[in-house]
Amino acid sequence: MKRKLTIAIDGPSGSGKSTTARMSAQKLGYTYVDTGAMYRAITLHILNNNVPMKDKSQVVKAAAEVQIQFTRTGDRLEVLLDGKNVTDKIREPHIGKAVGLVSEIPGVRAILVNLQRSLADEGGVVMEGRDIGTRVLPNADLKFFLDADIEERAHRRQSQLAEQGVELEYETVKQELIDRDTRDSERDESPLRAADDAILIDTTNLSIEDQVDLIVQRVREKEAQEVTLHE
Ligand code: C5P
Repeated sequence: MKRKLTIAIDGPSGSGKSTTARMSAQKLGYTYVDTGAMYRAITLHILNNNVPMKDKSQVVKAAAEVQIQFTRTGDRLEVLLDGKNVTDKIREPHIGKAVGLVSEIPGVRAILVNLQRSLADEGGVVMEGRDIGTRVLPNADLKFFLDADIEERAHRRQSQLAEQGVELEYETVKQELIDRDTRDSERDESPLRAADDAILIDTTNLSIEDQVDLIVQRVREKEAQEVTLHE
C-alpha cells in the first residue's frame, strides 16, 4: 500500500512556494496547508479588535481564542476566521506589514505549531511556511527550500498584488519584502532557514510548472521507495 507522506516546503516571500505547494498538493491528491495564512489570520483578528500589538500576553490570549479553518472552493483555499471568510482580507498590504510582529511572539508560534502538527498527523500533507522543515515537522518525509533572487521575487509579488487590484511601486514592494525577510530570518524563535536535509530549489529561472514537476517527481519517487520497503 502506498503510504501518504508529509512534505515540508519553506522559503522567503515571493519564492513561489505558495502556488507551488498548492498545485503540487493538488496533483498528488494531498492536503495543502498554508501556515502563513494562519499567522495572517491572527494578525487580522488582533488589528480588528484593537489588541495592543506590544502587549504580548494579550496578543497570545487573542490568538488562543480564535478558530482558524481552511475550506476548498475549486482550486482555491479559503481561510475562515471564527467562521468568517477572510481569504482576501489577510492578503492586504497592512497585514503583510504587521504579521512579522505577531509571528515573532513565542506564545503565538506555540499555538500555531500545535495546530499545524495536528493537521499533518495522518500524512498526505504538503505544508508550506518558514519553519516547517526545522520546527513544525522535523521528521517530514521530504523537505524543500525554495528561494529566488530578490529582484525576481519583488516582480512576482508586485504582479500578485496588481491582480488583487493593489498597485504599488516596484521599489516599495521590494523594500517591504526585504524588511519582512530580515525580520523572519533574524528573529530568535524559529527563524527562516533551510533545514540541513532540505532539497534546495532556486526558482529564479523556473516556471511554476517546472517547480511543481520537480516536487511531484521527488514525492512519487519517495512513495515508490516506501512501497518497496514495506512489501
Ligand atoms: O507565507 P506568507 O507570506 O503568507 O507569511 C506571512 C508571514 O507569516 C511571514 O512573513 C512570517 O512572518 C509568518 N510566518 C511564519 N512562520 C510560518 C509561516 C509564516 O513566521 N511557518
